[in-house]
Amino acid sequence: MDKDFREEEFTEVIKFTPPLYKQRYQFVKDLVEKYKPKKVADVGCADCRLLWMLKFCSCIEVLAGLDICASVMKEKMHTLSPLPVDYLQPSERSLTVTLHHGSIAHKDPCMLGFDLVTCIELIEHLEESELKKFPEVVFGFMAPSIVVISTPNSEFNPLLPGVVLYRHPDHKFEWNQAQFQSWALDAAKCYDYSVEFTGVGHPPRGMENVGFCTQIGVFVRKYPQTGESVQSEKPPEAVYKTVFKAVYPSLKDEKYLQNAVVSEVIFTAQNIKHHLMSKHEEEEDGDDPERKSRFWPSVDYFSDYLRKLVVDQTMEPFVNGNEVYIPLVTIFSFPKVNRLCGTFEKLCKLIAGKVTLSSDGSAVVFNTEHE
Ligand code: SAH
Repeated sequence: MDKDFREEEFTEVIKFTPPLYKQRYQFVKDLVEKYKPKKVADVGCADCRLLWMLKFCSCIEVLAGLDICASVMKEKMHTLSPLPVDYLQPSERSLTVTLHHGSIAHKDPCMLGFDLVTCIELIEHLEESELKKFPEVVFGFMAPSIVVISTPNSEFNPLLPGVVLYRHPDHKFEWNQAQFQSWALDAAKCYDYSVEFTGVGHPPRGMENVGFCTQIGVFVRKYPQTGESVQSEKPPEAVYKTVFKAVYPSLKDEKYLQNAVVSEVIFTAQNIKHHLMSKHEEEEDGDDPERKSRFWPSVDYFSDYLRKLVVDQTMEPFVNGNEVYIPLVTIFSFPKVNRLCGTFEKLCKLIAGKVTLSSDGSAVVFNTEHE
């Protein structure tokens, strides 16, 4: 794999900061920030580094990698698995990460439906026959809204001492700017895309005419995909092998949403209860602010909030003997609970049987005796 294995060795002469591969990945990340694609496929994903970076982009819900070399993909694919923190604090978005073993020269239905397809330092590794099929598979079959393709610019090579023919022994060719642009423009024209050229890795001052070290084409589909164009052909048989799949815990999944809501309801109710109890203590101890803050350091926020909130009697928490009643409407009006549940009915549904409620179901009840 490419990891700038030689580009970075040439640092005596040309030093790229950050390293060129990171600049390429950053370029893709910026593109994701700009277009906010939900489904992204990285073709020639190698050791999944770009995919790993992309999993932190909150707009992405589906990430897929494809590589012809299963062993390089497997090396670090564990880094794409959810971490314990993802289970402790499930994200609001859903995220599925899948890795497929196969060649971009073949069509597979699992590659349909993507918004962005990235091919970073891939095409120069393709055999002539594969390169020939590439436009039809990527632009014609996958047909995402955006395709980004990066490849070495051979005009830059004389500035990289040590490069005899190509920058990497597995490269089948390296194109100059005119060659890449002519290939890209042909593909764009054939499949109704527009293309803009840019790159990363600036040439030294005074040598601007050689262009970027890595040349990049960003292709944008001209027309939205219609249902007709999607279904006009019978989908091909599956030929790729799925080697990895991770479904991240998400609040879109009712199971995780219920856990989050129950925890938040109990946390909120407990804070309100502390507020009430501290008021009781205050009344008993006189007005000793030091004592109050010593026992209930987080109460002030709730006191203020509750004061603003409790406009009618039905929302007011109260103590009855050993029991503290905190109306669900009060809990529902707290921003986080409100945002998680959306509606009051949903709140009631999610906490049913999970939190102790008053007999009419309108309030959370704590028994202070059992604490
Ligand atoms: N995109 C990565 C890796 C680039 S190296 C990066 O920027 O670091 C090119 C990768 O393409 C290799 O991992 C190689 O195994 C893969 N590759 C080569 N031919 C392929 C093909 N026909 N289909 C899919 N992947 C291919």
